[in-house]
This record gives sequence, C-alpha cells and structure tokens, in this order.
Amino acid sequence: MKWRRFVSLTILAVLILMDIVFYGTVFIFLDDWVGLHSSAGLTNAVIFTVLASLTLFSFLVCVFTDPGVVPSGYFPDIETSDGSDQESRETEALTKHCDKCSAYKPPRAHHCRVCRRCVLKMDHHCTWINNCVGHRNYKAFFLLVVYATISSLYSTVIIVGCGVQKDWESAGTLRLKTFYITSGVMISLLSLTLGTLLGWHIYLLTRNRTTIEYYAETRAVWLAKKSGQIYRHPYDVGVYRNLTMILGPHMLKWLWPSASSHVKDGTSFPTVRDSL
Ligand SMILES: [Zn+2]
Ligand SMILES: [Zn+2]
Repeated sequence: MKWRRFVSLTILAVLILMDIVFYGTVFIFLDDWVGLHSSAGLTNAVIFTVLASLTLFSFLVCVFTDPGVVPSGYFPDIETSDGSDQESRETEALTKHCDKCSAYKPPRAHHCRVCRRCVLKMDHHCTWINNCVGHRNYKAFFLLVVYATISSLYSTVIIVGCGVQKDWESAGTLRLKTFYITSGVMISLLSLTLGTLLGWHIYLLTRNRTTIEYYAETRAVWLAKKSGQIYRHPYDVGVYRNLTMILGPHMLKWLWPSASSHVKDGTSFPTVRDSL
C-alpha cells in the first residue's frame, strides 16, 4: 500500500526534532532571554515561527511528492545518441535499460533499490524523508536544507546568546548550566551538519549535477585529464540556467517549495551540445 511509505520512524523522528527545537528556542531560551511579551521577543518569535513553518512545509512537500516515475512505454531516443553506427546505438540503448524494472530508463534516471523502481533524475534515496530525492522533489529538498540551516543557525544564536547573557551568579545551578551547554552544543552541531549539506547542494545545483552523477563522473574526469582534455559535464549549461531549471524561471517563486509548474517530464534535459 502506498500510504505505508508515510508511516516511518525517520519521518516521525524529524517531526519530533523540529518540535523540540521550536519549543526550546521560543518557549525556553527566547522567553528566558528577552521575554515573549517584549517587542524583541515577539518579533524574534514571529520570524522564527515563519522559518520553522517553511522548513516543515518543505519537508512535507519532499515526503509527499513523487520524485518522478518513468512514463510507461518510454523508449530512449537512440537516434540522437552519440553512437553513429548501428552497433554503438544498440550498446547505448542497452545502457539505458533497467534489468530490474525490465524497461528502458531516460538519461539521468537510476534504479533505487529501496523504492524498487527507476527514479527520474535520481539524486539519492533519503532516509529522513523515506523517499527518493529526484526530478520532481529536488527543489523542495534543496529548500528544506536552506530553511532548516537558517532556522538552525537562528536557534543557535538565540540559545548561545541567552546562555552568554544569563546572570549565572544568581540563577546558575549545575543542572541548569548542563542543560544550557548541552543545548548549545547540540544545536551548533546540527547547524554545522546542515550548513555542510547546504554547501554541497549549492555546489551541485549551480553545476547541474546530481549526487550520483558527481561520484560517477570521477572516472570520466580522470580519463579526460589523462588524454589532455578537460571533462565537461553534459548538463552544466551555466549557473543561471542551472538554477532556473531547478528553482523555476520566476525569481519570486524560487523560495516556495511547491512552485514547480516549470518542471518538465524529466525524460530529457538540455545539454551543452544543444547550446552550441
Ligand atoms: Zn529500474
Ligand atoms: Zn528511493
């Protein structure tokens, strides 16, 4: 049953973590630092609530959006493949065949062992959303990492700021100090982890690579270097175009996870050769 995919311990764990970070940041640390009834407290609470809501929304879009299924009856366009003679065309067609699905797969599609099917422009299978990250939900996944990183950094500033400003002489019991230090360390580690993931996906997004392609092309880069050439990723058509292909043509919609009407069918992608 399809709905079973949404009943997952990892999804529950992420939702609980979001709840804990939100509750702790607003109702414990921010309240303790400036008070929620002050204008500074209220302003920060509203900003943090908006960021947390965007993180939650992006997460839900990632979970509920199908990453992209190969259209039934799909057949690779071997006429436009690199092979010029019949034999090389057949070889090309074979590499685009998935033995497990007994079907052809479009360029950039890969078979996911967890989902047990081919996924269009597969990036990776993400345990935390219990879903593949692929053609249709990569934008939501990217924005999830963006909003989660900003929220986490915001929370770090509030928790650490509160700890630094606190009058430990009069209020500091050992238990309270331990709680503050543990919270500060945990949220800093979360920010660092998310920040690293964000940096990685900014790199991939601006160069129009998936995680799978990045690791797969290591050999191609090496071979090109060996023969004195420079390897060029076929789908890297320039930073701005790469960005608009994922985030959309209208900048105003770039930051909205479900604004994905620009997403094409995912069976073909513009290449460097097209723009020559
Ligand atoms: Zn497959
Ligand atoms: Zn998968």
